[in-house]
Amino acid sequence: MKHLKLYENFLDEDVDVYRNEDNEIESGPSPDLTSRFRGIIKDPKAALDYMFAGKSIFTIANPATHTRFTYRVFKKEVDNKTRTLYFVSILSGPDNVKNYSFIGTIFDGNHFRLSAKSKINADSPSVLAFEWLFRTLIGRPDRFNKVEFWHEEYCGRCGRRLTVPTSIESGYGPECIKIIARGR
Ligand SMILES: [Zn+2]
Repeated sequence: MKHLKLYENFLDEDVDVYRNEDNEIESGPSPDLTSRFRGIIKDPKAALDYMFAGKSIFTIANPATHTRFTYRVFKKEVDNKTRTLYFVSILSGPDNVKNYSFIGTIFDGNHFRLSAKSKINADSPSVLAFEWLFRTLIGRPDRFNKVEFWHEEYCGRCGRRLTVPTSIESGYGPECIKIIARGR
């Protein structure tokens, strides 16, 4: 039932800027929604791969309510590379390369936990939306078509800016797409 609650909460929201308890903007609009270098990823498996590619920046948008949030998920290998952590941050300012606030960590590829250090509350829309997205991608891919998943013109694996049409379609640069394809 918790899934359902998160889902409804996300879909019902009708604003795209949120403030935390200190009245700081927690999530604003993506910096340039008109950029032709952004690209939509429609397949849920591809979106999950993208999230875990290493240095991904992506926006999820709910077309029904015009709600959107931009996240960054960075991969870090620990314990002599026996374990992989993913650090999740949310865009919290106008610069979509620099202005991120850390919200939590994905453990073992299947468990997201909000950080105690996070300034953002567990029940804030940005956190709920991320949890909804993550649960959807790993357990309920049939729900993925409720939202749009956009990469933000950077290669999901290495973080370099994308420039050529085929890269914009996939979300990866020409070299990284080969490595990603091999991992499938
Ligand atoms: Zn790359």
